[in-house]
Amino acid sequence: MKIRVRYAPSPTGYLHIGGARTALFNYLFAKNNKGDFIVRIEDTDLERNIEDGISSQLDNLRWMGIIPDETIDLPGKYGPYKQTERLNIYIQHALILIKEKKAYYCFCTPQYLEEMRKKQADKNILAFQYDGTCSKLEQSVIEENLQNKISYAIRVKIPTNKSYKIKDLVRGNVEFNSVDLGDYIIIKSNGVATYNFAVVIDDHLMEISHVFRGEEHLSNTPKQLVIYEYFNWKMPIFAHLTLIVNNKRKKLSKRDGSIIQFIHQYRKEGYLPEAIFNFIALLGWSSHEEKEIYTKEQLIKLFTPKYLSKAPSMFDPEKLVWMNNYYIKRLNVEQYLALVTPFIKEKYNWNSKTIEWWKEVLLIYQSQLEYGSQINELVSLFFKNNFKVDIEAKTFLNDNECNLVCTTFIKKIIDCKNWTSDNVKNIINEVKKETNVNGKLLFMPIRIITTGQMNGPDLVSTIKLLGYDTIINNVKLNFKY
Ligand code: GLU
Repeated sequence: MKIRVRYAPSPTGYLHIGGARTALFNYLFAKNNKGDFIVRIEDTDLERNIEDGISSQLDNLRWMGIIPDETIDLPGKYGPYKQTERLNIYIQHALILIKEKKAYYCFCTPQYLEEMRKKQADKNILAFQYDGTCSKLEQSVIEENLQNKISYAIRVKIPTNKSYKIKDLVRGNVEFNSVDLGDYIIIKSNGVATYNFAVVIDDHLMEISHVFRGEEHLSNTPKQLVIYEYFNWKMPIFAHLTLIVNNKRKKLSKRDGSIIQFIHQYRKEGYLPEAIFNFIALLGWSSHEEKEIYTKEQLIKLFTPKYLSKAPSMFDPEKLVWMNNYYIKRLNVEQYLALVTPFIKEKYNWNSKTIEWWKEVLLIYQSQLEYGSQINELVSLFFKNNFKVDIEAKTFLNDNECNLVCTTFIKKIIDCKNWTSDNVKNIINEVKKETNVNGKLLFMPIRIITTGQMNGPDLVSTIKLLGYDTIINNVKLNFKY
């Protein structure tokens, strides 16, 4: 059997961490089995679709390295890959079910349905179910209504008290009973199929072998199983992925502002696709090895649904930042500069310094940078004018040894004619020898009077890159000698 899987986003929003994880697991499973990964756009909820929903999904998946084999702009022989272009297919299938008395026209008006809903609510029935009124209509009435162009929906007739079973790759055996389903609408009065119907038709016609999707769809599964059974189609193998939760064990909510949740936002902040790919692959899956860092190729090789987690997986933003830094540290100079330069150009006057100077400054931060946009805040050290050291730093300077270090340093630095890293380094060494002070008490006071900060990148490089004039200006401003 050819392995064919799909990620089927509704373009009602941008690519979210949860969707990216679903896509990624489908992708890894397909590639592990030399199968096909399809992206199908489920856009039948017309009112909720957003303008750039489709492009956000596809562009960001591709950016992450999740490359579809078939999709709307890369069609295979199973297209179209967008549900609104398949509406006729769904209607044809609904008509087959009507013919076989497995579905029926429903002419109930919204007002009538509202009354039905109220009556059920009064009887404390919480989950509304259609009462089957139109399933009992005489054929002649149906024909008359159709002729009179009375608006209708099409409902599937759910068998009474029937049990449906699946062997879910995450949940194991799951059993459902049809009493909970109700005759649900498969084609709405505007002619558009509903999700639970369209998804089955498409998965069947597109020869989908496995369905990895979020656990919120588990409750939809029995509705879909009825359709598989009615058409006598083989159902795919399901795997319902467990929830992604925050550190308070709560389901990630799209409204939670404390966690960046959309892939385009990570991309904008200068996260690396390899890091996002690696991080998301471990949200609810593990290789059972004692390691965290995997290339895409390794993940493809290792992926097996056997190791999908049965418990919710925790989204840890700190781990993501750590992982992103891991990948940033390993970029070569060219790649690293390509990552950070656009951010710099947005905020600083690139032409005010030489390219060599920028290169040196930017490279100082490579080992600590967590994500691209962070560079702007880090390099601000080089663009402070007439800063004042804060109280904590001032207090630190209030010490005889520090005083001595500062005065000795200033005398020497003022006389430094040849401004090179080596000379700056020599001066600090001479200060060390003459004052007999070393370690923190040597470096910290020099850092404070030259940069105004108590910590920062390598001191020698910082002083050298700030330049003679700035250094002299800074020390004069911050230290009386
Ligand atoms: N369109 C559905 C969603 O975005 C996909 C459900 C499925 O994978 O069956 O949640």
